[in-house]
Amino acid sequence: MRDILVAGNWKMNGSNAANAELVDGILAGLPASDSVHLLICPPFPYLAAVAEKVTGTRLALGAQNVSQHESGAYTGEVAPSMLRDTGCSHVIIGHSERRAMFGETSDIVAAKFLSAQDAGLVPVMCVGETLEQRESGQTEVVIDEQLGAVIDAAGIAAFGDAIIAYEPVWAIGTGKTASPEQAQDVHRHIRAALAEKDKDIAAGVQILYGGSVKGDNASGLFAMPDIDGGLIGGASLKAADFLAIANAALSPG
Ligand code: PEP
Repeated sequence: MRDILVAGNWKMNGSNAANAELVDGILAGLPASDSVHLLICPPFPYLAAVAEKVTGTRLALGAQNVSQHESGAYTGEVAPSMLRDTGCSHVIIGHSERRAMFGETSDIVAAKFLSAQDAGLVPVMCVGETLEQRESGQTEVVIDEQLGAVIDAAGIAAFGDAIIAYEPVWAIGTGKTASPEQAQDVHRHIRAALAEKDKDIAAGVQILYGGSVKGDNASGLFAMPDIDGGLIGGASLKAADFLAIANAALSPG
């Protein structure tokens, strides 16, 4: 059995005061289960302050992006080693907002995946199709291309220490969630694609679902055999909402 991970992507939201309240609220209600894990991903400027609050707790810290470069003349970029230094264990790679708005190609995502792992970070690698791609029957082709770029660059063994997040673009921040069956179909496809290369890696990798997950739809999603938790945007900004999703993982179905 794979553990469940509920990860919060705060996106470009927060302030020192709001973050302190949010983190305190989450820490006060962490589910009492060793198989349900929680991760939060604040914006860069707040990582150090949040790290101070979560160090030594069961709440893990991640970033929302990272440079593919290790150091040097890359104004405005943040290196993977800096994230490790600041207390991060995870980093989101290839979120659809970065692919769509900041020109991140699958090759750039693959380079970021590699440099994150080299620094000892666990990449949470996002894949997902747009509505247009889904409606034209391209979902699996799109996912295969996004995943394939990373497998080609890093090798299948790299997924022994990585997490995949399936996030249909049409479900992110729209209030439209994929049904548990729609999500499961894609998760099954992802696991099968990995299994063609290595059955054990495929069986072990956590595949999260992301896209308008809330407390009231999480348990149906988490009950699916290939869904191992969620990547949560909007509902990760209030402790009660985030914890409701984490608690749904305790009693899926
Ligand atoms: C996300 O941005 O990763 C996400 C899933 O957002 P939301 O939960 O708000 O749809």
